[in-house]
Amino acid sequence: MVPGARLVILGRQGAGKGTQCVRLARHYVVPHISTGDIFRAAVKEGTEFGNKLNEYMHAGQLVPDEIVIGVVRERLNQRDTRSRGFIFDGFPRTAEQAEELNKMLDEENMPLDLAIDLEVPVEYALTRLAARRTCSTCATIYSTDRPPSINWTCDNCGGEVVQRADDTEEAIRRRLEDYNTLTEPLIAWYLEQDLLVTIDGLGTPDEVLNRLTRAIDHRSG
Ligand SMILES: [Zn+2]
Repeated sequence: MVPGARLVILGRQGAGKGTQCVRLARHYVVPHISTGDIFRAAVKEGTEFGNKLNEYMHAGQLVPDEIVIGVVRERLNQRDTRSRGFIFDGFPRTAEQAEELNKMLDEENMPLDLAIDLEVPVEYALTRLAARRTCSTCATIYSTDRPPSINWTCDNCGGEVVQRADDTEEAIRRRLEDYNTLTEPLIAWYLEQDLLVTIDGLGTPDEVLNRLTRAIDHRSG
């Protein structure tokens, strides 16, 4: 049986993090836990922290850390994560959250294997994000290199495929800078814990996946 894995994946937008998380989840047979997905699921199922989360989101207020952590804890207590592990995508966002996560994992005796920083140059991410086009109906993502088959009409739903207003070069550049500012302390924290590995995100998806699995297997082996 393939051994599981307990991972946190970091990386700026445009680094291909989402794609690699899906592939890693398949490779190690572990759940890919993206914050957006577990937030939606917790609200829908009406869990204790899902209900609290819902109140903040309805009021349009910033969700406090303790509630984010609560939702994560609820997800970690499910059977698949307990038996196989997890790949966190979009969490933790701050060093404080990383510390809370580590505490939680220590208590449950399921320590983190690695935090992986999937690294691509800013200019590369910028080019990729600027080429991105999105279906205005179902949000499927295309790019100028991989357009839908007929005239910017979505292959899935027939909706109009457009460049989102927040995908302009200026807006993307600002988002990438914000990411750096926000993530620096988080990276530093994982480095200090000797849990961080930086992986080159350039190349084909297969090449990047190979680099990732080599680093992970080396670490847990
Ligand atoms: Zn569509």
